Amino acid sequence: MGQSMRSIHDNLQAVRGRIAHAATAAGRDPLSVTLLAVSKTHPAALVEQALAAGQRSFGENYVQEAIEKMDALAGRSIEWHLVGPLQSNKTRLVAARFDWVHAVESEKVARRLSEQRPAGAAPLNVLIQVNVSGETSKSGAAPGEVAGLAAAISSLPNLKLRGLMAIPEPGAARARFRDVKDLFEKLKAEFNLDTVSMGMSDDLDAAIAEGSTMVRIGTAIFGAREKIRPAA
Ligand SMILES: *Cc1c(COP(=O)(O)O)cnc(C)c1O
Repeated sequence: MGQSMRSIHDNLQAVRGRIAHAATAAGRDPLSVTLLAVSKTHPAALVEQALAAGQRSFGENYVQEAIEKMDALAGRSIEWHLVGPLQSNKTRLVAARFDWVHAVESEKVARRLSEQRPAGAAPLNVLIQVNVSGETSKSGAAPGEVAGLAAAISSLPNLKLRGLMAIPEPGAARARFRDVKDLFEKLKAEFNLDTVSMGMSDDLDAAIAEGSTMVRIGTAIFGAREKIRPAA
């Protein structure tokens, strides 16, 4: 039976249990890992159910779809994260509506986000996506470029650089998570970083064992997604 047959409340409880178990097994405080519920392709009604079960942070991949949900859930206390890739022609909407952006990989996009963050809004929380798979076709900054990008982002007034994000290939060696954590440890003090966003439904346990502080969980909470994705 698929996870979609169970309630979102039960799924959230199960995921919280997995997080606590993985953290404890690694000698870490379970409260050092934030659960981000990735609600992409799922309707606002399911976000409502997760809210009712105490979930507050939600991740989306597609800007237009996210904004429809934000409008449907206006006035609710939700922290919205963009976890998908960000094209530079979408930065204005993202700067206006999101609280966090996980996949920043260029100075150009970072500069636009800072310039377009509305006056009076809190700084936009930003993560640099780092490419640890080593394939040139994959998104994310090369590990050797991350320090320079971090310095550039840190100088922008309306962004707050919080850390790193990575999406290792499904089934990738656990060492890929360790590479991200090692890079984070090198940059943490200089840039005052506190967040390592890595781990999804299938590999959150390994990611937490290797130091993740934020896991991005879709399927294990909301069930399987339709294969056809809406356009960004
Ligand atoms: C879809 C998505 C997730 C959630 O993946 P699941 O395997 O469904 O948990 C996490 N991070 C990113 C960047 C995603 O696109």
